[in-house]
Amino acid sequence: MNKAELFAVLTASAPLISYFFGRINNYVGFSAGAAGLLVFGFLLFASGAAIHPSMALCFWSLAALLHSLMLNSVKVRTPAAMTDKLTEIVKLEKALAGEKAALALASGSEKKALILYSTIKLLSETVSPEGARSRFSRYLADYFETGDFAFFLEDFNSGDAPMELFASGGNNSGLNSWQKLKSALDSAGKNTSSPCVLVSPAPYVCVPVSNSGERLGFFAFRPPEGAAPEEALAASANFVSEISFAVKRIQLFRRVEWLSMTDGLTGVGRRNALDEKMEEEIRRALAFKTTLGFMIADIDHFKRINDMYGHQFGDAVLKKVGELLKDGVYETDFVGRYGGEEFGIVLPRADFAGVLRKAEALRLRIAGENFQRGFESVRITVSIGIAYFPRDGRDARGLFAKADFALYAAKEGGRNRVVDAGNNQGIG
Ligand code: GH3
Ligand code: MG
Ligand code: MG
Repeated sequence: MNKAELFAVLTASAPLISYFFGRINNYVGFSAGAAGLLVFGFLLFASGAAIHPSMALCFWSLAALLHSLMLNSVKVRTPAAMTDKLTEIVKLEKALAGEKAALALASGSEKKALILYSTIKLLSETVSPEGARSRFSRYLADYFETGDFAFFLEDFNSGDAPMELFASGGNNSGLNSWQKLKSALDSAGKNTSSPCVLVSPAPYVCVPVSNSGERLGFFAFRPPEGAAPEEALAASANFVSEISFAVKRIQLFRRVEWLSMTDGLTGVGRRNALDEKMEEEIRRALAFKTTLGFMIADIDHFKRINDMYGHQFGDAVLKKVGELLKDGVYETDFVGRYGGEEFGIVLPRADFAGVLRKAEALRLRIAGENFQRGFESVRITVSIGIAYFPRDGRDARGLFAKADFALYAAKEGGRNRVVDAGNNQGIG
């Protein structure tokens, strides 16, 4: 092989050089091939070879074609393949977005399940329902993503306000009082025994809480902005039904507590509750330097009532007197029964003249009451002794003794009267 032929072969091998170097790196391969072509092509040209340079070019073109085929035979990236790839990528991206959304949804419902579990655990473990109130409120706010809600519990104590606010958040809609919520439900023509959505005064979802047909409470909340009320209604009905058993337990606790504090016959406080209330109010009056009125009311000649009309009628009289006393004082005052036909009344922050006036009003109210027994109407009277903190004593025992002494004086003075321990002044 002469020089010219050698250069021709080397020139033609430029694409092969390009190919082998291209296995390492595309740019290196291209550069090496191009450099080979230039150098050997120039040498071929300079050798004055008989082979015409165009022959070398043909060699080169042929080899370049082979090179290209070899390089691309592994994967031919035609525009159609690129389109397929792009479609595939778009599909993958969509699938990824779907997975992400499902993950967010799963973590959202996982969070809700966790709150529900915590709520049931809280209500099932609490021994003091009052102590669970703030955590329960927080769970409700988190679960329903709202700052405006009210959870009521059935009140055993009162017929007029059958629901008592137990937990609440915010007050934007002003519906965290049972009276207001009830009147909003009434004006919308909705009843309190089935779930509903209120539109006015605010979008509010309302769900009764019950277990085995027993009414336990009521839950109402304003769904977060943008949430569909119907979906919120379904979610809350589900939540309420899940926690209803634990709510029943809470209500049992409250009922036992209430019964232990409440006199079964008259519905006023029991003696222990009255003593507790007295101690508590004296502590408060001492701390805040306020006053306190205390009364003992005793039915006159009650034994005669029993003897003449029977114990059953006597019981009915006691019950009614308890009601009249409770009715005749402020809600912040406390009425209890010492037992028998003797009642105690604690009147926090009352002024002296006010207590006297209140006692007289109670005496007149009871004296004016007709206690029906068949066609017969029976009248009874009470005597009341008053003591006043701090004038008559600075502890419960002292105040009780003074009021009892005043009561004794009222009985001695002829009954159906009020006597104030401070000046033994009798009215009536
Ligand atoms: P006074 O005017 O001095 O208070 O006379 P009184 O008869 O009311 O007082 P006394 O203490 O002598 O009698 C109280 C009566 O109250 C005795 C009892 O028959 C009656 N009593 C006590 N507890 C109950 C009760 O739970 N039910 C009924 N029906 N009567 C009761
Ligand atoms: Mg009596
Ligand atoms: Mg008595």
